[in-house]
Amino acid sequence: MSEKAWLSKELKNGKILCQACSQACVLDEGEYGICSVRKVENGELRLLVYGLAAAVNVDPVEKKPLYHFLPKSRAFSVGTVGCNFSCKFCQNYDISQYPKEHNREIVGQELSPERIVELAQENGCDSIAYTYNEPIVFFEYTYDTAKLAHEKGLKNIYVTSGYETHKAIDLLEPYIDGMNIDIKSFNNEFYKEICGARLKPVLDAVRYAHEKGIWIEITTLLIPGKNDSDEEIRGIAKFIAELDPSIPWHLSAFHPMYKMLDVPRTPEFTLLRAYKIGQEEGLKYLYIGNIENEDYESTYCPSCGNRVVERSGNIGQFVTNKLDEKGTCPYCGYGLEGVWK
Ligand code: SF4
Repeated sequence: MSEKAWLSKELKNGKILCQACSQACVLDEGEYGICSVRKVENGELRLLVYGLAAAVNVDPVEKKPLYHFLPKSRAFSVGTVGCNFSCKFCQNYDISQYPKEHNREIVGQELSPERIVELAQENGCDSIAYTYNEPIVFFEYTYDTAKLAHEKGLKNIYVTSGYETHKAIDLLEPYIDGMNIDIKSFNNEFYKEICGARLKPVLDAVRYAHEKGIWIEITTLLIPGKNDSDEEIRGIAKFIAELDPSIPWHLSAFHPMYKMLDVPRTPEFTLLRAYKIGQEEGLKYLYIGNIENEDYESTYCPSCGNRVVERSGNIGQFVTNKLDEKGTCPYCGYGLEGVWK
């Protein structure tokens, strides 16, 4: 199954420029993009995974993670094979790197945009999340689905590494209501060597999506010895704080995976150190994922300090939201930033 990958343009020399992500692949007839799921065939760029889902689940929205976005709701979550990054620590490498590791083979179950929206509704979801692999590589599939979802009153979420071009963000803006964007490091060398990408386009995409008014939360996976120095953590915290201190920052723990089996798990004290640095830089909402301590998973009112969204148990298992539909703190009336209805 494939569809025209219309977020692309023909260059004067006859080659095709893909305009979806900042890898900016320029391709000749028969060539694949870095993501392995966009290919030039008969003079046009085709999206080889259109309508082919490789992973489908109903997840708590907290699992994306989005903590200031319809708390306690369900997100119908869809991903395909393929990715524009090649992170050595990828937790979903079985799908994200599948075509690269299987001689460009494409796999997935047929699932049209219409069927995704129906299934989301049948499963009581309030949103559809494009997740598991990098959604910008299957842009046209997400775009068509998100548009239909909006017509049916569902919201849309991108869980992304932040390599969208400005053009892609312009097109997504009317339909994508929330984004969780990874800032994987504050060091270009890390991006180059470990992810096959660059830092600057990620920071640009975060800034631009925020400027467009899309609700953003940031995630950083802290990997021992790779991106966890005080200096680097502070660099990310400062960047977020200067952009907008109300952007939530999720700090998460690495566990050995894929091509990084020789690196130990992130110790709890590293996560707590990063949390403290985030506080020192003035971030209003900080969260630590995958440790068992609800104090670091709950939301506190930045004005009065009361706990206003409690989270405990497995991710999304127990969520008590004391905010109203405008995000108003019941104790002091402060309006917490987020998408609450
Ligand atoms: S989406 Fe794929 S083909 Fe397009 S620029 Fe990115 S890596 Fe290249």
